This record gives sequence, structure tokens and C-alpha cells, in this order.
Amino acid sequence: MAKVDLHLHTTFSDGRLTPTKLVELCADRGLRVISISDHDSTEGLPEALEAADRFPQLTVIPGIELSTDVPGSEIHVLGYFVDYESPVFQNTLTRFREGRQERARKMVEKLGDMGVNVSWERVQELSGGGAIGRPHVAQAMVEAGYIEFPRDAFDKYIGRNGPAYVERVKLTPADAVRVLADNGALPVMAHPTYSESKTGRDEAGSLTDTLQELKEAGLVGMEVYYGDYTPAQVDRLAGLAAEFGLVPCGGSDYHASGNPDEPEPGTVGPPMETVEALKYQWKQSAATS
Ligand code: AMP
Ligand code: MN
Ligand code: MN
Ligand code: MN
Repeated sequence: MAKVDLHLHTTFSDGRLTPTKLVELCADRGLRVISISDHDSTEGLPEALEAADRFPQLTVIPGIELSTDVPGSEIHVLGYFVDYESPVFQNTLTRFREGRQERARKMVEKLGDMGVNVSWERVQELSGGGAIGRPHVAQAMVEAGYIEFPRDAFDKYIGRNGPAYVERVKLTPADAVRVLADNGALPVMAHPTYSESKTGRDEAGSLTDTLQELKEAGLVGMEVYYGDYTPAQVDRLAGLAAEFGLVPCGGSDYHASGNPDEPEPGTVGPPMETVEALKYQWKQSAATS
């Protein structure tokens, strides 16, 4: 078991546990440092920080995850120590979440054209007013009996190259890095390589070119200890992190998704030195801004 898990989702995006329940689960599992990193939303952070007050041994790093489409694949960027009280940043997030509404509605329409009838009202209800995403569409499909597990929806319909996929609001990976850096958060590339259990994670072009470009935009870390990555994948990514001078981060990417074999919080995560390195980077960036 890891003591650190820097990639977790709540009901404020596509996770199925409230921030309070997630923090309780992490404390129960013996975690010492976690980050709540919802998609395009920091709205779960106040509740998570308050819940963590009851567990003095557990620290919560305020985080976020932004997603971008690139040809044939996706690049996601995490931000740590995010200043969630910044009005400029919150305006940007509101825009991203509005884009998600439009996109999810279009995906439901495309599914309907294919004879897969899920109710848009139900999808919205499942999102609970948080950042809506494909997992909410997938969950509605499970409920309607079209598929057994949410991930079947990705494999057959709404994966990055699936027939009902709709691209998100245009944003380049370097733009996502800059949005986070401008906020004062530490940008970290999420799940940089192929994942067996999640679609759309194939490397787009050359990972080293991407890392070079994103480093120039302000990237400070990359995920190495992630979800279902094999020891060989972790080794390769650890090598790249060292080569590019990036802090090796990671976590379970836990969503309580209802998919079989989902890694629980703390099944995978970086060592405590990663937290020290991130804190150091954050102090450095605050001192130079
Ligand atoms: P979205 O944010 O709407 O683009 O949806 C992406 C989310 O779907 C990811 O953050 C994961 O939570 C989930 N996801 C991606 N690929 C899969 C997959 N193959 N099976 C299950 N969930 C997935
Ligand atoms: Mn997600
Ligand atoms: Mn992601
Ligand atoms: Mn994630």
C-alpha cells in the first residue's frame, strides 16, 4: 500500500463518492497525503478539506485535472496546490464545464441516432450538477440495460475513437499547462502512456516530444505510479521523468466507477519524497512569481 495518492475523483466530477466519503475511505486505508483532482472543478475541495480536519494524520493537496483532445488521443494535465479562490481561474473552469454539457448532450444524441436511447435528463441527474462527463453517459447506459459495465460504453461507443465520441472545447495540452501555471498551480502530465483499462490513452506521437513541449510551457511533473500501469511501464516513465527533470507523481485515479478491478485509493502511488519535491517546487514558483 502506498501512503500517497495524488489522483482521486469525487461526485463533483465523475467520481461516485462525495468528498467526505472519499476522505474517510483514504484515512481508513492509512493514506497520509492525497490530492482531490476532479475534472474541471474545484468545488469539492472545501468539503474535502473540512472532512480531513477530523484526520490529523491525513493531508489533502488541492488539485484539479484538465483534459485536452489531440489527434486520435487525449492528454490530461493535473494541477497541484491550485489556488481555487482565483476568480479568473473559476471563470475558466465554468467555461470548461459549460463545454462539457454541450458535448455530453451531443454524445447522447449520437447514441440515439445509433438506436441506443439514454435519457439526457437521467445523464444530467447522474452528474449531480457537477462537471458532467462520459462516465455519466456510461452509467445511464448500464441502467438502461445496454451494457454491463461502464467501460463497455467506452469500448463500443464513446471511447476517443468510438462512433458516438464528440470532441471537447478546443484546448491544447500546452494551453492547459499554462492555465494551471498562471493560477500558481503545479502542472503535472497525467497517465502519459497506454492504459489497459482506459481508452484514449495511447501515446499520441512521440511522448518525448510532448514532454519537451510541455516542459517549456511550465510542466513540473508527470505521472509514473499510475492506476493499472505495469512495472515495465513504471520503469520507463520513471526514466523519462528523470531525463526531463520532472517530479514523478501518480495515484490510483479512483472514481468508485463500478468497473471491475478498479484500483482502490492507495493501491498505487508515489513515494513521500514526491510530496517533498512538489512542496519545494511550489515554494520556488511562489518565490519567483
Ligand atoms: P470525459 O471527461 O467526459 O472525457 O470522460 C473521461 C473519463 O471517462 C475519464 O476521466 C475516466 O473517468 C473515464 N474513462 C475513460 N476511459 C474509460 C474506460 N475505458 N472505461 C471506463 N472509464 C473510462
Ligand atoms: Mn474521470
Ligand atoms: Mn485523466
Ligand atoms: Mn483522473
